[in-house]
Amino acid sequence: MSLYPLFANLVGRRVLVVGGGSVGERKVLALHRAGALVEVGAPRITSALVRLVESGQITHRNGLFEDNWLDEDWLVIAATGDRVVNRQIAASAEARRLFVNVVDDAELSTFQVPAVVDRSPLTIAISTAGAAPVLARLVRERIESLFDASLGPLAALAARYRQRIRQRWPESGPRRRFLESMFSGKIAADLRRQRPLEAERELQNALQSATSAPARGSVALVGAGPGDPGLLTLNALRALNEADVILHDRLVSAEVLELARRDATFVEVGKQGGGAQTPQHQIHALMLEHAQAGRRVVRLKGGDPFVFGRGGEELEFLRANDIDYTVVPGITAAIACAAYAGIPLTHREHAQGVHFVTAHGRDSIDTLDWRALAAGRQTLAIYMGVGSLDRVAERLIAHGRAAGTAFALIENGSRERQRVIRGTLATLAECAALHGAQSPALLIVGEVAALADRLHWYGAAPLTARAVAVDALRAA
Ligand code: SAH
Repeated sequence: MSLYPLFANLVGRRVLVVGGGSVGERKVLALHRAGALVEVGAPRITSALVRLVESGQITHRNGLFEDNWLDEDWLVIAATGDRVVNRQIAASAEARRLFVNVVDDAELSTFQVPAVVDRSPLTIAISTAGAAPVLARLVRERIESLFDASLGPLAALAARYRQRIRQRWPESGPRRRFLESMFSGKIAADLRRQRPLEAERELQNALQSATSAPARGSVALVGAGPGDPGLLTLNALRALNEADVILHDRLVSAEVLELARRDATFVEVGKQGGGAQTPQHQIHALMLEHAQAGRRVVRLKGGDPFVFGRGGEELEFLRANDIDYTVVPGITAAIACAAYAGIPLTHREHAQGVHFVTAHGRDSIDTLDWRALAAGRQTLAIYMGVGSLDRVAERLIAHGRAAGTAFALIENGSRERQRVIRGTLATLAECAALHGAQSPALLIVGEVAALADRLHWYGAAPLTARAVAVDALRAA
């Protein structure tokens, strides 16, 4: 069946919905939102519909369907759930040349209601001609995730300025180019970060300036999460889809990069423990160069950009250079590794708080407040510690944390090769060495770490220290 798509203006027009159950209710609400004068016909209606009737927003025709119910209507929806009644409604409507939709019955319907992405005044409607409503819904979800809510205000702004934009760019080519830049550039970005006045001012400036201003570049500081691409936020996905240039850390997984716009330029900056690093000033220079050339830059970092990610320095630099920026948070390694290892970071019985700390190199180890960290009833999430495990354990024990306190070392958290190594502080360095622990790995110290033994659910079960103990016994 091939359908002719149309969008109906129902404002002030009477529409009948037969059936007052939950399906009828959904149809009534959608039609009511579209401005239709809705009448619901049924012997019984839901309490939500009763409230709408009582507040005078819709009308109710009490009883069983009769042909004359259709006298005043423009459109009919049959949602009775009773095929005999639905067939009768469809026949009556057909005889009067009224369009009728019978819910979930393409055969009896003369129009279909599409799955809708609502960014009013922009509306995206999807239909499979009744063949596969589930597929339509899946497509809708995809589209929902691609276009954020700012699209509605953007379309409304363009509509409000339509005449002025036409006057400013009478020829269609330049006008189209301007509108394209408006829909993907600074004006769109301003709406997205809830700055509608700035968006409008930008539009007014563009209308007044004699020459078309060059596109303004921008930088999105985006958290890529720990590796599993499913942990990206919708905003991160959108930013990756819109990027011209992606400056990414090595820690960002290939699966995440896979989701980015194919024709974007990818530049690897930064390092993963130990290796040679692009100096920070060079990263700054790259961001500046591309943004000033009018490109949309994504600075993509593992985990969250503000957790041991030097995101703060980068924003300060962008601010100082008057480059527009946005920030998209990501799921930081501590949160992700704990979840993927089955370790609740806080727990009423074991830990009232959690510390995120980094133990990277001798300097940072020496400046940590070990006394505070060694206190009980709290969980430590230690980043970048693989090279310093012996010192971490030693200091914690020296400052009073029990040698028997549980730890979990999570390597490649949320990734295909995730491993969890479990033991007690006293055997931490030994266990890690035994299993050849490597970066990136996150260390969790505290009673909650032991829960991984029971609550693990992702990848292999935790590796334990038993082998170490056996070796030690043999050696003794
Ligand atoms: N901004 C990042 C942290 C960067 S520091 C975030 O919010 O997660 C780098 C350290 O993070 C690594 O040395 C390691 O300790 C930790 N890390 C990052 N991703 C990890 C992963 N998938 N598994 C285990 N640890 C990870």
